[in-house]
Formats: sequence, C-alpha cells, structure tokens
Amino acid sequence: MELIPVREGDVQCMVSKTDASLHFPPGSGQVFYNPRMVFNRDMTILMMKALQPGSYLDAMGASGIRGFRVAAECGIPVTINDHNPVAVDLITKNSRLIPGRIEVTCRDANALMHERHFHAVDLDPFGSPVPFLDAGLTSALQYLFVTATDTAPLCGAHKKAGIRRYNAIPGNTEYHSEVGLRILLGCVARKAAQYDLGINPLFCFARQHYVRLHCSIRKGAKRADTTLFNLGFVYHCYSCMYRMEEQGFFPSVPVCPYCGSKLEPIGPLWMGQTNDPLSLAAVREQIKHSALSSPLQTERLIDLLLQELPMASFYDYHHLARKIRISPAPVDSILDALQRRGYLASRVHYTGTGLKTNAPMHEILECIRV
Ligand code: SAH
Repeated sequence: MELIPVREGDVQCMVSKTDASLHFPPGSGQVFYNPRMVFNRDMTILMMKALQPGSYLDAMGASGIRGFRVAAECGIPVTINDHNPVAVDLITKNSRLIPGRIEVTCRDANALMHERHFHAVDLDPFGSPVPFLDAGLTSALQYLFVTATDTAPLCGAHKKAGIRRYNAIPGNTEYHSEVGLRILLGCVARKAAQYDLGINPLFCFARQHYVRLHCSIRKGAKRADTTLFNLGFVYHCYSCMYRMEEQGFFPSVPVCPYCGSKLEPIGPLWMGQTNDPLSLAAVREQIKHSALSSPLQTERLIDLLLQELPMASFYDYHHLARKIRISPAPVDSILDALQRRGYLASRVHYTGTGLKTNAPMHEILECIRV
C-alpha cells in the first residue's frame, strides 16, 4: 500500500494513496481516505468542540483521520474502530504521533456498539448507514452522528431501493436533497422510538452526494412519542408542482386543490426542525478557533441553515420559471417581493436556486415574473 502524508485541520498523518475512483472495494487491502469529505469532517470538529462530550467513537475509522482530529482538535478521548486489520494497523501507527487520548480497536462496528457505550457515536460507512443504526442508537449516550452517501435511494432516483432501505417513499422532485435529509432523519427517529429514545436534530445538512446528521439522543418513552410526532408527509402534485405538508404517521390521499390531480405522498419524512439554532450558533463560534478547509463556505452553510424556513420542501425557481416559460427575476428580488406581500420567504442550503415560502403557488409565480 502506497502511503502519502496529508494535513487536515491540525493533524498530519499518513494515508493510503487513493486512486482516481476514490473507492476501494471491501477486502482489497486498501485503506479508504477521501479528501473530498474534508468539509464533512470539519463540521464534525465544530460540532464536537461545541458539544464537548466525554467520549467519541469513530465506528468506521478507515484512515482514522476523523477520530484523530477529534482527539487533537477537540481534546476529547476517542476510540477509533475498523474491521479491516490493514486499516487498524495504519491507524495504530499514525495514532502514536497524534496528541490526545486515542484507543484503537479492530472489531465489527455493530458488535462493538452493542457492547460499549460512548457519549458520541459517529457512523460514517460506505453508502447506507442503515445496517448500523440500531447498534449506534444502543451505544450512544448523548449524540449520534450519521453520514449517508446512498443519495440515489434516499432522494428518489432509485425509488424501490429507497422504499426497501428506508421504509419511506422518496419521490423524485426538485427538492430531492431535502427529501433525502428528512427521510434519513425520519428513519433514525423511527428506529430511536423503538428503543424508547427521542432524537433532536442539532446540525443536519445535505451537500454534494451525502447527507450528514448530528443529533442528540435522550432516553424516555415520552421523548420517543414526541419524536414520532415529528413524522409526516409532503403531498406533491407532479402536474402543477403544488405541495401540501401534513403531520401524522399514515398518509391520507388528498387531491391537488389547484389542478385536481391526485397528490402523491412522499414520506414518512421528518417534519420537525432539522437544526437547532443554539447549536448552530455554538458551531459558528468555533469557526475562528479551527483550522478549516473552507471557513467561508462553512460560514455560508451555517448562515443559510440559520435563515432557512422550517417547511419540509422547497421550490426551485428555475424549475418554476421553465414551467411558465419565462426567465426568472434574481432570487433576492423574488424573496423580497414575497416578503413585501407579507409571506415568509427564505433561501435554502440545498441549492442556490431553491426558495422556501408559505405563499400560494399563484403568488410565487407572480413574484418570479417581477
Ligand atoms: N470515516 C472515514 C471513512 C470511512 S470509510 C473518514 O472520515 O475518512 C468506511 C470504513 O468502514 C472502511 O474502512 C471499512 O473497512 C469500514 N467498515 C465497513 N463495515 C464495517 C463494519 N461492519 N465494522 C467496522 N468497520 C467497517
């Protein structure tokens, strides 16, 4: 295995030289390191600095870079695990040069998480985190962090796979990235409730080809009930793009009040807030004390999350403009026009052409024409 040095945040270590595809099949003897996920790891560092939990498990360590950074940059005792002995060998060698308290284990992540508790548990596998959610929820005393890179099933491009894996209907709409984030949160919420646990999303976002969740976990049947109350559906009209949101566990079958088409349910989704403003403010505060790959993008993400309205779907104004065959006004003037009419309107972090508003469709279209 060819090794190269990398520097991420305050940490320097050796990683396996990645090939162009950035993917090593399991059992290839290689150790995965993806430089494109540095932003994802940066966000974990900010969250950990803000939360300061007593211990942290990097359940799928690969190169161990995430755990090393938590140990060195946040001063939190970490356990870095991987079931691949080649990875564990590399993690062990690197760990000797990293400041902080680092334990290295070579276990199946599910077995380890069923045996031991950690204040924060981080699941960052290849693809779907679903096979690890039960054990992760069992192990986490306070926080569960999850990355999902299987955005095709989550966001509706592979609908049947999405239904099988997440027990929810994704629906391929222009707000598929938001649907993906909320389907994953909904799935974590339903699993948590099975164990009498409630979840509270603290800092969750979708970016490029992944969804990242940072949630707090608390024990209690009442909290689990409250968590389930956050589930619901978006009903989407594929003819005119009208959508309606409804909280509840089972879908009704309403009709589009604008064009009379049958509305198709998307969900069950998490309908509650996807970020906690206080946690975001705490994360934002850590930016200036951290060695981040892109501080400006980080600030921009957090500011977008802070202003994003709490509804569960967004409009893509380019999409709407194409539908009515006009070239749209700039997004700021659309938002301004909607607000002047007394509606709530915000940008979204999912895409630069997205907007959220409680205005009815005909008013949105009028404002796009301005
Ligand atoms: N978290 C890493 C990337 C992880 S890649 C980072 O931030 O860079 C996924 C890793 O999970 C691989 O190294 C793989 O060996 C490991 N893995 C997959 N299934 C596992 C399991 N059941 N138990 C432990 N490790 C597992």
